[in-house]
Amino acid sequence: MYFAARAGVAIRIASPQPDPRMLIYLLSRGRSLYSTQGLVSAAEKAGHEAEVIDPLTINVVIAEGLLEFYLYGEPLDLPDLVIGRFSPVFTQLGSALLSQFAAAGARVTPAPQALLVARDKWRAQTALTDYGVATPAAAMVHDLDGLPFAIDRLGGHPVIIKLLESTQGAGVMLSREMQTTLSVLQSFGSLHQGVLIQEYVPDSGGADLRVIVCGGEIVASMERIPAVGEFRSNLHRGGRAVRAELTAAERTAALDAAAAVGLDVAGVDMLRSRRGPLVMEVNASPGLEGIEAASGVDVAGAIIAQLLPAQ
Ligand code: ADP
Repeated sequence: MYFAARAGVAIRIASPQPDPRMLIYLLSRGRSLYSTQGLVSAAEKAGHEAEVIDPLTINVVIAEGLLEFYLYGEPLDLPDLVIGRFSPVFTQLGSALLSQFAAAGARVTPAPQALLVARDKWRAQTALTDYGVATPAAAMVHDLDGLPFAIDRLGGHPVIIKLLESTQGAGVMLSREMQTTLSVLQSFGSLHQGVLIQEYVPDSGGADLRVIVCGGEIVASMERIPAVGEFRSNLHRGGRAVRAELTAAERTAALDAAAAVGLDVAGVDMLRSRRGPLVMEVNASPGLEGIEAASGVDVAGAIIAQLLPAQ
């Protein structure tokens, strides 16, 4: 089947026997990943057809006002739904591909713009604050002469320094004094790496909450507890996950955070503090293995059920 789209309207040339099942493309480079596999089997269980496609194997051609997609030289069918799960290095490419599929008439998730916001810690923090979601106080400092003032506004040291494109806790540091903060900022500045400085929230001893929001509903949650001697609770940093009961304020914060960033499926990370929940991050492609194990919820099934009704 071949399709083309002009001015955002897809033209689908009907195959001889139309297939009643929905066609889903899962754009991911990790075909064998737990989350990818989970979404594919949930889609198939719900009676749909799901194909994992490596985004780097799709060619998009825009010519003569037409938008065309090719996989290994063959025209690609227009799917009903495209689910994008891209690693941080492919955020821009992924967002562009999702926009192109959307322009051709497919439903896409995440929304391309929401993916860009979620993947940029500073934009996300701004969007959350704009929506009225509480976050740890943060500063983006370009003029290092102004650093002491900015740190004072955050409540002083210690502070957390985050690379804007960090994931799995890899670019997150704890700095206890000005000299360290200054030299970290100087090094990253010289490497042209964007950095966010955040107040350190010690109240939960490094534990944080991960809440999966799907279609405006809370689907699952877990608390992540860091390894001894570690302030980061990421499972990739040796943290462990347990089932979590959320307070009303935490539920509201999670739903608002997903809405603020514009994600229909989101993994919202927050710290429990004396001032209530403080949202740190909203993940556009939350991993499913840890949360399914900790919560006992079929998160993949819930995501597919929300995105597409069963056949
Ligand atoms: P990444 O996106 O790389 O996982 P996060 O912002 O989620 O980075 O931070 C990683 C971990 O570091 C969090 O899960 C949390 O345990 C800890 N952490 C992050 N920010 C703060 C903070 N402001 N105060 C205290 N702990 C924090």
